[in-house]
Amino acid sequence: MSIDLHTHSTRSDGTTTPAATVALAAEAGLSGVALTDHDTTAGWHEAAQACADHGLRFVPGVELSTELAERSVHLLGYFVDPADPALAEECDRLRNERRRRAEAIVARLAALGVDVAFADVAARAGEAPIGRPHIAAVMVATGAVPDVATAFDAYLADGGPAYVPKHALSPERGVALLTAAGGAAVLAHPGLSTRDAAVDTDLLDRLVDAGLAGVEADHVGHDDATRAFWRDAAARRGLLVTGGSDFHGARKDARLGQSTTPDMVVDALAERAAGATRAVAGSATGTAPW
Ligand code: AMP
Ligand code: FE
Ligand code: FE
Ligand code: ZN
Repeated sequence: MSIDLHTHSTRSDGTTTPAATVALAAEAGLSGVALTDHDTTAGWHEAAQACADHGLRFVPGVELSTELAERSVHLLGYFVDPADPALAEECDRLRNERRRRAEAIVARLAALGVDVAFADVAARAGEAPIGRPHIAAVMVATGAVPDVATAFDAYLADGGPAYVPKHALSPERGVALLTAAGGAAVLAHPGLSTRDAAVDTDLLDRLVDAGLAGVEADHVGHDDATRAFWRDAAARRGLLVTGGSDFHGARKDARLGQSTTPDMVVDALAERAAGATRAVAGSATGTAPW
């Protein structure tokens, strides 16, 4: 039995609601699913309810934005306390920062001759934290680019001509924040190539020192050699290996359940998270807060 530990919904930059995302996990025959929206836990309640309806195990998660040398580094945090003041404050700050940054990206695009109305971007995001996929969707809708891939390759990718960083935390501080919030922190898709990729095993060592619990070696964007490399790097450091599809609904090709994590590994993550909660004085959460 296995669990897809990496999915997005309309609460961030996916196109399916949390309940519809869970329904797809049930259709795929999974034993459970994690919801890991960017910088928000707003979808947990709906997803947990849907999991209860479908008899699936719900794994509460968040994909926290961090940055190193102005490049994005994503961390998955499982079983965090969503009410943890420091984590909630950072997610709030990131939400505001994402709006400012989207305005800056729109201004850069204008300077490059690509007209995108910020109001259209904000409308697409709705209540969700604004992400580059919302900008890319508007660029496709207005015909500025033929598809989302071109929007990223030509303009929006890390280090691209219209890229603006988020002023996010360092990955080390992100791991510490997720762990102090009672969660288990996992390095997301370390092998996804971004320009001048910042993620290497030196960073992994620093993240281990900060409390990292696992590495997402089995990501849909990793080829076999990349998976093997990060599995080995994880094993050498006693880290858990996780897998997820990074499902974004219609925004990306991945199918829900395309990469998964064995139930036993999720049990181990939960145990790590419980240990973190016990270790942080005063942050005991009692019953599930979502
Ligand atoms: P942001 O959260 O605004 O930094 O945007 C990052 C998100 O953009 C990722 O989580 C993906 O959903 C999406 N993304 C990043 N690179 C690409 C790409 N090359 N093609 C399509 N989507 C991408
Ligand atoms: Fe995304
Ligand atoms: Fe990511
Ligand atoms: Zn993701």
